[in-house]
Amino acid sequence: MAKIIVFNNDTNRMETYYRNENEAMPYNTNRSLLVSEFRGSSQSPTLWTTKRAMQSWNSTRYLYGRPIPVGFAFKRPWEGGHSNQSQHYAGVAFDVGQRLSNSERNTLRNLARSSGVWSYVEPASLTPTWVHFDKRFGRPACSTGGYPVVRRGSISTYVLIAQDDLNTLGYRTGGLDGIFRK
Ligand SMILES: [Zn+2]
Repeated sequence: MAKIIVFNNDTNRMETYYRNENEAMPYNTNRSLLVSEFRGSSQSPTLWTTKRAMQSWNSTRYLYGRPIPVGFAFKRPWEGGHSNQSQHYAGVAFDVGQRLSNSERNTLRNLARSSGVWSYVEPASLTPTWVHFDKRFGRPACSTGGYPVVRRGSISTYVLIAQDDLNTLGYRTGGLDGIFRK
């Protein structure tokens, strides 16, 4: 059983769900993304994502027309495995298609790019053996990209990252909920 925190981009609120590993993610349609697929190798009892990332997944799966094999999606910062300020820690990134042939992967990558539903699709030159796409949001804090600034009053999965980092370092943040209280 996983606790899943979802940032609802339409209401600007955090929603909490409890789902078994073989159940679909919140806002997923047609069981095309199970909790176990979203978490990949993450051991975290708590997962997070956004409604918009789930909707982008639904669109991509529909356009592709067949199952998309997922390698990794979610990771908590302390689990590592990704670069600093990775969108995987924000729960809005997918690494998929590791088991596809080169041509199938290119089809999926091109489709993800042309669909326009993702904020970023990694070029094949950077990740030739998988396809990375993500639905990052907010204005990056610096010109070279990265996470948006979070401040008092912010509600986002980036606040969850900050809370998770601070909790891991021994600071008390009043919970892991994605809400930076005023
Ligand atoms: Zn990735």
